[in-house]
Amino acid sequence: MSKLSSSFYTTVQRNFDNAAALTDHPKGLLAQIRECNAVYQMRFPVKIGNTYEVIEAYRVQHSQHRQPTKGGIRYSAMVDQEEVMALASLMTFKCAIVDVPFGGAKGGIKISPRKYSVDELQKITRRYTVELIKKGFIGPSVDVPAPDYGTGEREMAWILDTYQTFSRGEIDAVGCVTGKPVSQNGIRGRTEATGRGVYYGLREACSHEDDMKEIGLTKGIAGKRIVVQGFGNVGTYSASISQDEGDAIIVGIAEWNVTLYNPDGIDIAKLIKYKKKKGSILGFPGAKALKDKDEWVSIDCDILIPAALENQITSKNARKIKAKIIAEAANGPITAGGEAILNKKGLMILPDMYLNAGGVTVSYFEWLKNLSHMRFGRMEKRFNQNTYANIIGTVEKLTEKSISAKEKRLITRGADEIDLVRSGLEETMVMAYKNIRDIKKRRRKITDLRTAAFISALDKVANDYIAMGVFP
Ligand code: GLU
Repeated sequence: MSKLSSSFYTTVQRNFDNAAALTDHPKGLLAQIRECNAVYQMRFPVKIGNTYEVIEAYRVQHSQHRQPTKGGIRYSAMVDQEEVMALASLMTFKCAIVDVPFGGAKGGIKISPRKYSVDELQKITRRYTVELIKKGFIGPSVDVPAPDYGTGEREMAWILDTYQTFSRGEIDAVGCVTGKPVSQNGIRGRTEATGRGVYYGLREACSHEDDMKEIGLTKGIAGKRIVVQGFGNVGTYSASISQDEGDAIIVGIAEWNVTLYNPDGIDIAKLIKYKKKKGSILGFPGAKALKDKDEWVSIDCDILIPAALENQITSKNARKIKAKIIAEAANGPITAGGEAILNKKGLMILPDMYLNAGGVTVSYFEWLKNLSHMRFGRMEKRFNQNTYANIIGTVEKLTEKSISAKEKRLITRGADEIDLVRSGLEETMVMAYKNIRDIKKRRRKITDLRTAAFISALDKVANDYIAMGVFP
């Protein structure tokens, strides 16, 4: 096991212990919640070119207190058992915080996807799915994977197709995986969900004047200068939605090969187009490239959003940070050593298990859609439209005044699936933040949002175990 990922798992467990010490749940119950329930390590051969490669892969189910278990599948050369265990643990707490009724899980395949052709990736993904099926580690009521670092809707479509091949007659089979293409029983708004959730969480955190004053900022996300590290799915949507809907200024974007900086703001829509065309953000004309790409950490800004991988902010670079808020869009981006420094500096850290829970929240909506076999909004959209139109008509008659056709269209619109997904996600992120903030405010011993988030999760998972009668 690599040293880095082992420290990631240790950090998650240490943070858990710190929070657990502040609760009065029985020791045995806390020990049960802390550990991973099932770890499936597999090796399988896949023919790549003329040779066979032995692929190393994992699926970890951290907690079955609720089922199915849920969590993404990561493709990265850094994958190892402890990394997947850390990520699976975070999924349990993440789901509890946003009231998504699943246990936590995570999968990983130790490959660098860039090194394989699409056909080879398909072969690996399908074989991995078969391994999961063989051991009962996948299914709509058992364990439901989703995208993560290095995977997306293409991989989810392969997983679905493989699962369906082996599950003839299973009526809910399409609920075996989420993050699918919309045309393959996916849901609108899933691709942007994690980034959109990051935006809602940030906007909520910035809306409390007293909290902002404590860290030397003014209320509101508008005008805040943001640096985003990582321009993959999560980083891209976090940046574009914060800019478009929150009027924030994105002053820096860091990728593995370059860090872009523009104090007046980078046009994210243009950057997305540029990356699509060139395959990288390197050479983008709307910003300057910093000499040292690792200097993203010291850019003068209000909010830093690490949106790549774990262990990015460490005891080595944490002192350089000028931001007042660290928004953890990635899982585990701050090491224990880094966090100690940031806490001393009095920064606000919005913890991963809350801030990036938008992905699994919309996955939950997708799974519900799959089980109900119907698109959200189908039943009520037209009925609502007609009702609103009747109300407007009556008001117009009574007042003898009328509104324009454009205004009428706006007011009488019934909700589509995307509207419902976004409003469900917004409600979830706002309510979860209130809950965490209340816990922090109520208890003097809790001085950071991560511990508060852990306690919120721990109490919910503990109550489930108690309700089951497992720990009377
Ligand atoms: N991989 C995402 C996460 O880390 C999403 C998981 C899911 O949708 O199940 O939260």
